[in-house]
Amino acid sequence: MIFCYIYTFGMTQEELKKYKDSLESNKKELEELIAKTPLVEDMGSDTEGTSFDQEADEAEAMVNNAAIRDSLKERLKAIDNALEKIDKGEYGKCEKCNEGIDEEKIETSPESSLCRNCK
Ligand SMILES: [Zn+2]
Repeated sequence: MIFCYIYTFGMTQEELKKYKDSLESNKKELEELIAKTPLVEDMGSDTEGTSFDQEADEAEAMVNNAAIRDSLKERLKAIDNALEKIDKGEYGKCEKCNEGIDEEKIETSPESSLCRNCK
């Protein structure tokens, strides 16, 4: 990865590197979180000795896990997308209007792909 030729939307190489590092560490954290949120595949096969209430609780936990995983995966996708843009030299550009995304927004969520106006 060569940073020397990338100078996107007024960002310095140091800034790009900083955002890339933070995206990569976020990505690692997310992947660990996803791994820790397993989906229970065999629904209903282990019902012996459990009351209906327990079963309902388990089903609910499963639905929650699925929702959590979905939102984590959604974030992971946004991060991958941002990392790809860094490689392509398009990082910091709004996907809708092609304007630069304001630095404050990138600072708080480096995976942003839309500017303040388009969000
Ligand atoms: Zn925009």
